[in-house]
Amino acid sequence: MRQNNLASVLDVLRRESVTRSALVASTGLTRSTMAGLVAELAELGLIDEITPVATGRPGRPSPLVRLVPGAVAALAIDVSVTRLSVGLVGLDGRTISVSERDGDRSNESPHATADAVAEMAQRIGVGSDSCPLLVGAGVAVPGLVRERDAHVVVAPNLGWEDVAFAELVAGTIERRLGVCLSVDIGNEADLGALAEARFGVGRGTRNVVYIHGDIGVGGSIVVDGARFPGGSGYAGEVGHMVINPYGSPCRCGARGCWETEVGERALLTRAGLDPTGGSAAIDALVEGAVSGDPIVLAALGETGRWLGIGLAGLINVLDPDLFVLGGMFEPLLPFMSECLEAELMERRFGPVERTVPVVAAELGIDALLIGAAELVLARAMADPAGAVTFGG
Ligand SMILES: [Zn+2]
Repeated sequence: MRQNNLASVLDVLRRESVTRSALVASTGLTRSTMAGLVAELAELGLIDEITPVATGRPGRPSPLVRLVPGAVAALAIDVSVTRLSVGLVGLDGRTISVSERDGDRSNESPHATADAVAEMAQRIGVGSDSCPLLVGAGVAVPGLVRERDAHVVVAPNLGWEDVAFAELVAGTIERRLGVCLSVDIGNEADLGALAEARFGVGRGTRNVVYIHGDIGVGGSIVVDGARFPGGSGYAGEVGHMVINPYGSPCRCGARGCWETEVGERALLTRAGLDPTGGSAAIDALVEGAVSGDPIVLAALGETGRWLGIGLAGLINVLDPDLFVLGGMFEPLLPFMSECLEAELMERRFGPVERTVPVVAAELGIDALLIGAAELVLARAMADPAGAVTFGG
């Protein structure tokens, strides 16, 4: 009971700093219970109270209860094909510090990646005295993750098969930095969806399909507020639904998967740019689109059409309330939406007035780090006293 109450107070404070009265109102607890909970969380070093700047209105403003910035954090790791990011993410879902390394890692071994992770973790202070209390580490990978043993079953664009990556990262960090952390791992689209649902554009929406695009295209289906796992836990691999049977071969071994038409390489090829150019090439593409480059705009239009064809099918099957597009789609969506919407109009089935909004994700380049951290933070904050006392 007390543990649940502590968790619900933190749940409110993770969204915003509020007065004690607002905490009482939103949790439904009594004032005296709340006083005890606030004292206990302050004792744990998780929260404090600050006096806001006077507003000019009569009377003194009430103090706000807030999370102590940087007191507790999760180590977050985003292994994408063209960029490795390692960061510290606080309880409020904000990144405290991030280290990034660009470069094609499509043939890098899991061991080499784990070594790079440890090195970058050290660079952002893990193992030093200035590091916040870490309650664990979370990893986002572009592949299928088996929940039972946290193995990466397959990550086609990394060339990984059956890799115990969470274990490998935990072992490498312990050996190289002397820090013992429990490491969780999840699919990048699932973690992007988790981050957007908690802190971004998906807040408060019950049925959402989140689609993450870069080299590969992943998806996560949220039904009535919870991730739909499917029979084996691998639901949502929308990037590998066949959309063009006469299209290009996919890294998964099939032909004409959705990601071969809407993934980064297809888009860059259409725009006449280096398909292996990674995030720098995508930045150049965004610049080209902003300045009205006709070849870039045509490439985005064509990609938008393929996106629309796939989304129309997903509407007919899943009937979501909202599509959230993340990764490289986030900055590019405004330049694709006209062609995308035209496909949706043409292919939709059902009442004319029925439309499903397609919106860009909100959390930007750090979304997967925030999602990877949330995997750890959400569980730790369900038992804050345990997490803080034992460090995760
Ligand atoms: Zn495929």
